[in-house]
Amino acid sequence: MKQYSLMINGQQVAGEAGTFKVLNPATEEVVALCPEASLAQLDAAVASAQACFETWQYSSNDERKQLLHSIADRLEANADELARIVVEEQGKPLFLAQMEVGGAVAWTRATAELELPVEILEDGDTKRVEVHRKPLGVVGSITPWNWPLMIAVWHIMPAIRSGNTVVSKPSGLTPFNTIRLVEIINEVAPAGLVNVVTGESGIGSGMSNHPGIRKIVFTGSTPTGQSIMRGAADNLKRLTLELGGNDAGIILPDADPSVIAEAVFQTSFLNMGQTCAALKRLYVHDSIYEEMCEKLADEAAKQNVGNGMNEGVTFGPIQNHKQFELVNGLVEDARANGARIICGGAPIEGAGYFYPPTIVADVTDGCRLVDEEQFGPVLPVIRYSDVDDAVKRANAADVGLGGSVWSPDIAKATEIAARLECGTAWINGHSELLPYAPFGGCKMSGFGVEFGQEGLLEYTSTQVLNINK
Ligand code: NAD
Repeated sequence: MKQYSLMINGQQVAGEAGTFKVLNPATEEVVALCPEASLAQLDAAVASAQACFETWQYSSNDERKQLLHSIADRLEANADELARIVVEEQGKPLFLAQMEVGGAVAWTRATAELELPVEILEDGDTKRVEVHRKPLGVVGSITPWNWPLMIAVWHIMPAIRSGNTVVSKPSGLTPFNTIRLVEIINEVAPAGLVNVVTGESGIGSGMSNHPGIRKIVFTGSTPTGQSIMRGAADNLKRLTLELGGNDAGIILPDADPSVIAEAVFQTSFLNMGQTCAALKRLYVHDSIYEEMCEKLADEAAKQNVGNGMNEGVTFGPIQNHKQFELVNGLVEDARANGARIICGGAPIEGAGYFYPPTIVADVTDGCRLVDEEQFGPVLPVIRYSDVDDAVKRANAADVGLGGSVWSPDIAKATEIAARLECGTAWINGHSELLPYAPFGGCKMSGFGVEFGQEGLLEYTSTQVLNINK
């Protein structure tokens, strides 16, 4: 069994708090033992990042850009190994894990190419006013288990591109891809620039209130985000919180189910539905409701559910037992309340947390499956007859990450999409993220954005130089 270590100040070290098991969700077998960091090791990781910041904050634009491209080169060289680690501990099919590694490389290169130019507000005979963007110091990154490698890259790359240093804490359910990522970064980066510590909530909350960490970038659930915000209050840490969502999609009456069913299915069930900005509640106009349900069931029937390492598998297990139980419970609750299960609807017998793609009809707002984030392979399909009412129901959620409107009438769909209360609204699509477009949520989905220029600025503080000539 492979041995993994923490990475502190460029050194691989064992966890002082012992080890814990990481399971393969397709087999429930142990992938490897993960080292568990002590709080003293968290302090050491922060101290090493602080020491590195003393010099890295003055690194040149070219040096930072070059480093990110070197990291991208190293990720490409190790792509096969990284994808296999993701499949083993996360469960997604190999082709999707390869896409995740490809995305990590693409995002690293896109971030390398971003710039933080000095802005000149005034330049006269007697006065010049410049706006500079300065790095913050040590950034703490806390990541979830669904797209573990990609999200770690989303946090780490803009942090170091803008002159910060990093302590990364992956989810204890999927730690190994991030440990390997940080090892790979350390092949080309100065010691202490990026460190990795592992553990669960103890290390996470230790980071939230750590006086040496200047910012936390967090992707995960809303309750954990709230806890981090409380911890961060003591020393007024900057925060970027990418939290849960319950994205609504609205299908207008003029949409053709046979044209859109594949895209609706793919964006709802991406990564077995374990995607923050997946389509999670589908509102379908009464006139095409039955046909839409039928076409979605046809898409579900095309899936080959199994171990992501096996050839031809398109649909893996749920990542962990807790989520598996949650998904099962939501479907059972819907069934008990009169829902019609169009396809799927029960766990698959045997080892592994396998649950088939499940379409649930005749549910409506007020049912747990509609009101709560399922974060798994089940889609509730809700009937509506009045578009304004559908928009109102979509906006009734306390979260607001993404949303979508589906129709061949682009102008009408765009007008309706603009009324959705969410960070990104798609027309005839969903869940597509772009390295140049700011991504984030509103309401209880958090605040701050990632990606592009606006995302990069979140890792900086503003300094005005007011020069009297
Ligand atoms: P989670 O909140 O349980 O865990 C996320 C991370 O926080 C893990 O590393 C965990 O160890 C750590 N953590 C747990 N308790 C902590 C504490 N008290 N203080 C600090 N850190 C702590 O979330 P999860 O179950 O891993 O992920 C699923 C959730 O993440 C879903 O709600 C999903 O919508 C959300 N998510 C959001 C986005 C986004 O971009 N908005 C992306 C992916 C996932």
